[in-house]
Amino acid sequence: MLERKTGISAFPDKLDVYRLTDSIRTVQCNLHQEAHYAYASWVITDDGVVVIDTGEPSISSLINEEIARETDKPVKYVIYTHGHADHSRGTYAFMKHNPRIIAHENLISRFKRHELTAEYINRIMKIQIHFDLQSERMPKYPFIYPTETYTNEYEFRLGGKTFYLFHGKGETDDHTLVWIPEEKAVFCGDLLEASFPNLGNPFKVQRYAEEWAVAMERVLALDPDIAIGGDVVLITKEKILEVLGENIELLRFLQDSVVKAANEGKSLEQITEEIQLPPHLEKSPNLRQIYSRREFAIYNIWKRYCGYFDFSPSSLLPRPKKELSGVVRGLIGNDEAIVRAAKKLMADGQLQLALETLDIILKTDYEYVPARRERMEILKKLFDTDICLMSRNTWLYYLEEDKRFLEQHS
Ligand SMILES: [Zn+2]
Repeated sequence: MLERKTGISAFPDKLDVYRLTDSIRTVQCNLHQEAHYAYASWVITDDGVVVIDTGEPSISSLINEEIARETDKPVKYVIYTHGHADHSRGTYAFMKHNPRIIAHENLISRFKRHELTAEYINRIMKIQIHFDLQSERMPKYPFIYPTETYTNEYEFRLGGKTFYLFHGKGETDDHTLVWIPEEKAVFCGDLLEASFPNLGNPFKVQRYAEEWAVAMERVLALDPDIAIGGDVVLITKEKILEVLGENIELLRFLQDSVVKAANEGKSLEQITEEIQLPPHLEKSPNLRQIYSRREFAIYNIWKRYCGYFDFSPSSLLPRPKKELSGVVRGLIGNDEAIVRAAKKLMADGQLQLALETLDIILKTDYEYVPARRERMEILKKLFDTDICLMSRNTWLYYLEEDKRFLEQHS
């Protein structure tokens, strides 16, 4: 496994390029300093260059310079493993070569959806990755759409190398995997990660557990020597077998467990408590929940097959939460006691329950200073102890909001 670097700037002056084989190069691109990054790669052949994922615009012009250092041949193809911005937004840098741009057909509707909901996406990315896509440092370029799409598979040859593209679903519905048999190398996009798969995201659209496992089985059947993924490059057969094997087992376990529980008439709330990972998967260093997490994955599988109803009649047409909070708050009639209860829960390590307890007040009066002060303490503790980037950044976002509010109201 190539060593993963931390602390790399999202706006580097120079790239640290890995030579994976005589013709394959890859570079780690960071958008977030800690955990959010993607690999961009390129394959140099006698007849031209194939770029597989272009990274963000902040690095793709540097990739162009790296390519020019090694060959005077043009970039003839750009392949998107999927339409997430960190894999596809850098394409503009290669347009002077007038490349063919290949992607799965579902990528078109992804780009259109991103354009349609651009403001929503900007807003949630500030929470999810604590990064402002609208910041002045982020170059603004529109998506560059593929020149060609395919449905199941696509193959071309360039400079004596075969590029076999096949479709897979998982982290997105538009993934392309690229197999170069002459190099025994496979490019998996974000379907291969060396951490808990990004099977669920509280802010985003559906992910696909079962199809993801199938795509990984197809990768294993190729018997690759090198596997390049979203956050990892695996360079031994043993490691590929280990990481993919554990990912497949996890995906199938979660898929089967959620579907079985739904068929048994259990509610989402219940199964989120009940479905725990088998200990060997829970402890695996390849499945650390540093980006997504078990709960998000369970919600996501549930969302695919089931609705929001939780088998309680009161959940069918729920009133806004502030109304029940108002009733409970009125019955208690003592806000200080509610804040004290939250403080006690926090001291006992029940941080989520402490947050929900404060909501009895905050759902009806968001500007109640003692509750906001207490919430800030809970969020600090959550932020300090949570290793999952998506939830940790969410705590941070609201922690900063509370801090700003309290500075104004002290
Ligand atoms: Zn992705």
